[in-house]
Amino acid sequence: MKRIALIGCTGSIGKQVVDVVRHNHGFAFSALVAGKDRAALQALAEEFCPRVAHCALDGWREDLFDDCDIALIAASGFAGLAYTLSAAKTGKRVALANKESLVAGGELVLSALEKSGGELIPVDSEHSALFQALGMRRDAPFEKLILTASGGPFLHKTREEFAFVTAKDALCHPTWKMGAKITVDSATMLNKGYEVIEAKWLFGAPFEKIEAVVHPESVVHSIVTFRDGSSVAQLGYPDMRIPIQLALSCPERLPCAPALDFAKLGALHFERLPQEKFPAFTLAVEAGKKGGTLPAVLNGAAEEAVNAFLLGRISFTAIAEAIEEALSHAAKEEAESFEAVAAADAFGREAAKKYIYAK
Ligand code: MG
Repeated sequence: MKRIALIGCTGSIGKQVVDVVRHNHGFAFSALVAGKDRAALQALAEEFCPRVAHCALDGWREDLFDDCDIALIAASGFAGLAYTLSAAKTGKRVALANKESLVAGGELVLSALEKSGGELIPVDSEHSALFQALGMRRDAPFEKLILTASGGPFLHKTREEFAFVTAKDALCHPTWKMGAKITVDSATMLNKGYEVIEAKWLFGAPFEKIEAVVHPESVVHSIVTFRDGSSVAQLGYPDMRIPIQLALSCPERLPCAPALDFAKLGALHFERLPQEKFPAFTLAVEAGKKGGTLPAVLNGAAEEAVNAFLLGRISFTAIAEAIEEALSHAAKEEAESFEAVAAADAFGREAAKKYIYAK
């Protein structure tokens, strides 16, 4: 029996983790942590009887990972970093669905894992695909990592049309059903920029070896190209339960989701990612290349800007503008401590808020 500490048990990923555990006898929950939904937490606690059922609103707990085999971090946003760091220090397996942990604090997370000897397994579908194509290793050699992007709901809109799209439009993702923040991040392609940074930390990839390509069907989840010119991809219907079960059970696989019906699938398409229409993608990749605390500034600003967009306060195009504005006032510091990264996150939020309320 493997014991899981699940952080973020009531969100979109958390619910799918619960679903995987419900259908497999080899797992139990040692800890369940919810962001704020106490009623949903209570129901899960009654079903699974974990040692700890905790609501993040009640503060920090030191003992969340004491008796788990796997820490699955599915909290949303920058708030996930403190949990990821705490889990990374235990030397246990960390299954990471919170990409902000690596975007804002990649250096800290990797160094904590190195000290503790802990294992890091990606839950993000693209990075799970890369991990699988690399033979379930994070240190295998490769020539190129190619992240696929569905393109989101606005792939074929013009920049002029972007001025009129609403939160409701942005929340209609064509292939994946996800939480609100990441769905908007997919529409701006900020999410794909984040995934470039995530790939850098997970696979030790220099930025010139990471590419993104649009693949509207979301069937090929990512591709690794090797030096002999061959490419290996992982395919499946868009279903997060596949990367979740793998992060829990790898190198084994569990029965989990329907397999692809290739005869019914027909054609798969790939096209260039139109960076000129999606400035948030470029802002993220550039902040990732500059490094230090700048990606944390970017993420803090983005969380505020997306929230303001969801509340109808700013337009879709103002999301990238708020991020750019925050970065333009930020000084790059070393991301040497949690405090330094948290200060950069706070700076990004404040700068974005100033921009939002001046509008
Ligand atoms: Mg993804």
